[in-house]
Amino acid sequence: MENYDDVLKMVSFEKSFFQNFQQFLEKPRLNSSFKLVFLKSMLHLSGLKNAKFDVKWGRNWIRMKDDKLFVKLEFIAVPYLKFYWDMFFNYRLKQSATKNQYYTCTDCNNRQPITGFIKNISKCSRCKSFNLKHKDLVLVEKIFIDSKGIPIIPPKKIEEVANNLELLKQFIFGMKTQSVTTKSGFAEVLFALNENGFYKKIPNFKSRNKIPKTVLENGLEFDIKIIDVLTKFRIPIENALNYKLTHYLESINNSPRISEKILLNPKRPELKSQEKKQMWEHNPPGLDSCFYCGKSEKSFAIDHVVPFDYVLDTKLFNSVPACNNCNCTKSNKLPDRESHFQDVLERNRKMDLDFYDEKMFEKLYDDCLIEYNGDRDFFIRKKYSELSEM
Ligand SMILES: [Zn+2]
Ligand SMILES: [Zn+2]
Repeated sequence: MENYDDVLKMVSFEKSFFQNFQQFLEKPRLNSSFKLVFLKSMLHLSGLKNAKFDVKWGRNWIRMKDDKLFVKLEFIAVPYLKFYWDMFFNYRLKQSATKNQYYTCTDCNNRQPITGFIKNISKCSRCKSFNLKHKDLVLVEKIFIDSKGIPIIPPKKIEEVANNLELLKQFIFGMKTQSVTTKSGFAEVLFALNENGFYKKIPNFKSRNKIPKTVLENGLEFDIKIIDVLTKFRIPIENALNYKLTHYLESINNSPRISEKILLNPKRPELKSQEKKQMWEHNPPGLDSCFYCGKSEKSFAIDHVVPFDYVLDTKLFNSVPACNNCNCTKSNKLPDRESHFQDVLERNRKMDLDFYDEKMFEKLYDDCLIEYNGDRDFFIRKKYSELSEM
């Protein structure tokens, strides 16, 4: 049995942890999501002493010694990167206030804010060109591109991030290539959290861009009691962080279901079989034909007209059968408004749909265009009706 002294120490540690946590949460203004996501990542330390520890990677980044716990930065960087990768590239959620977000004109290099951008309609405020390109200054995003500046598709599983030592190193240390130089995204968040008492304060941490060598070598130092606190209170701590993060992201993004987009494995609902039947019955080109191109095939994907990664939901009014070719090409693009989206609206008018309102669907399309599709191309296919006329 634990002795009385240990119990007292534990209680006082819990108390000070929650004092720090509450102080942190009550800070009125956030200007980025970084600190919250760092703490969410830190929750992976919970259960560390249990035999059924649910983290399958990174054991060797953790060292326990007497009453101290040393955690290499890689261990926290793994979930941290996975969270951001999903939020940036799957869901395209802005992570910091708009000052870091802008479009540049490829003709005259003029910068303008991201708000209200509509492809082919928004013009450069200086030279009136339509050639605007999205730029994002948020540091963490830059490491998710290859040497040519093309985004790397996020890995599905967190283990893949844990195995990508090169990426982790780039992230923790910052990187230099021909085209980009990034400061360490981690340095800034560690610097910002250094006074909050979650880990042992890093001494001589003077520049927000440079993590002291001792931390790079040994990792962050914690009181070992943190494991018990995080294990015991994981759910309320996680809920508080998720609530705060959702609230913050909602204030700067117009995107549905943000509270689920910040989870590592959100649900992917499917159509009920009755709904599938209805979808086929009302498919304009007929049974076993692709909604977009009319081609007949053996197997079909059910395509989310407004991309799944934006709506994060599966509704009949937003579902059409697509051949594999169309489905792959469309991927997570929006379909062209005139050639495809109008057809979906028309099909929906003939269907018996619950909780459906055409204005609402059009607004969803418009919001997705601004918030998600941005400067990306639309999906467009020659239609079955045009094909049959030839
Ligand atoms: Zn311009
Ligand atoms: Zn097709």
